[in-house]
Amino acid sequence: MDFTISEKMQAILALINEFVDRELIPLEREFATKSFAQMEPTLNAKRDMVKKMELWAPNHPVEYGGMGLTLVEHGLVSEALGRSPLGHYVFGCHAPDAGNAEILALHGSKEQKEKYLAPIIDGRIRSCFSMTEVDLPGSNPVMLDTTAVKDGGNYVINGHKWYTTAADGAKFAIVMAVTNPEQPPYLRASMIIVPTDTPGFNLVRNIPVMGHAGDGYFSHAEILYQNCVVPQENLLGGEGHGFVIAQERLGPGRIHHCMRWLGICNRAFDLMCHRACHRQMGPGKTLASKQIVQQWVADCAAKIQAARLMVLHAAWAMETKGHKEARDEVSMIKFVVANTMSEVVDKALQVHGGLGMTDDTVLAFFFRHERAARIYDGADEVHKVSLARRILKRYENISVR
Ligand SMILES: Cc1cc2nc3c(=O)[nH]c(=O)nc-3n(C[C@H](O)[C@H](O)[C@H](O)COP(=O)(O)OP(=O)(O)OC[C@H]3O[C@@H](n4cnc5c(N)ncnc54)[C@H](O)[C@@H]3O)c2cc1C
Repeated sequence: MDFTISEKMQAILALINEFVDRELIPLEREFATKSFAQMEPTLNAKRDMVKKMELWAPNHPVEYGGMGLTLVEHGLVSEALGRSPLGHYVFGCHAPDAGNAEILALHGSKEQKEKYLAPIIDGRIRSCFSMTEVDLPGSNPVMLDTTAVKDGGNYVINGHKWYTTAADGAKFAIVMAVTNPEQPPYLRASMIIVPTDTPGFNLVRNIPVMGHAGDGYFSHAEILYQNCVVPQENLLGGEGHGFVIAQERLGPGRIHHCMRWLGICNRAFDLMCHRACHRQMGPGKTLASKQIVQQWVADCAAKIQAARLMVLHAAWAMETKGHKEARDEVSMIKFVVANTMSEVVDKALQVHGGLGMTDDTVLAFFFRHERAARIYDGADEVHKVSLARRILKRYENISVR
């Protein structure tokens, strides 16, 4: 694996880092106290600047108006943008739109692409992904209660979902629902596009997460689908192909998430080191002189470096060997990077003392919002169990001396 970053990417990363430092980080104090709705005009102005700089939608194909970066290249961009909670949104490569656009590009009909894909990539509308249910384990997603029953030329959808991120203000949801109950578990569900103004799409509430319900893009909704009727042409991909498509959506998405988390690690690490060097603890002594803090700095530096190399390797493996062959690498990075991020953010917050608990730095935001990294897109334990099973299987029929 070659770790050289091309000249093109070095130039792109320099521009992005400068933009994050100059235009986004100064907005974070305001962002911590205002709603998304209040921030939206400012964020839209920043988005226009990004478009003018031709750095918009780095992950999306050129033919759809993106920059067409490869997985590794976009991973590096994601790391740079992850330094601010506003980065991905302002550059048009934010979840869940990024994943939804990917599956629409791969599986959408011509009409679906025109109606939904083009405006998402352009940033004119937002979307959400509605799979997890209130009463059933997201860790075993084949257990789904939501149904989509055919009625004439329509589907009638009923179900109770939650954690549908960014549903508030989204134009449509991609809903996972059982369409073929007679099939084996992995072939029972389909993805169906549901415009959020369809009668029967009921957004019950934005769920309070660690004390913050949020709004707009920065929220997670509970949704009741009650006799929600959409035409059959809103089926995305084949009937019963929901889980196959979901797997495709998660693979590259995990690389993007992990690189974003590394961006968070880098920012938290910078804040930690800066604070340690400048916090006077006595005459001529700063926090940086304390051996415990020095150990945290060394441990965090090494863990970030190890995690980063693992993610770049996983992205490279996915690009060169394909998703299936890179399954082990992807499982590993998902839990290693999520835990590294938890630890680095926690240590950075600790070094800041009382200040770390306030919203005067971005650390408290990271601490609240990013704990979820160990739960979504497969909880730590799910990845560990499936990775261990695959590894152990290889030892069943060989002898080792
Ligand atoms: C911030 C956030 C955003 C999200 N966004 C979305 C979204 O946009 N769309 C969407 O559909 N969903 C979303 N989710 C839901 C997420 O995908 C689920 O929370 C996740 O799949 C876990 O499902 P669960 O919450 O039902 O936990 P459960 O499945 O009930 O699992 C609970 C715990 O059990 C343990 N566990 C599970 N399986 C095993 C195992 N095999 N062995 C050992 N232990 C195990 C794990 O510790 C796990 O955390 C989001 C969640 C969060 C927190």
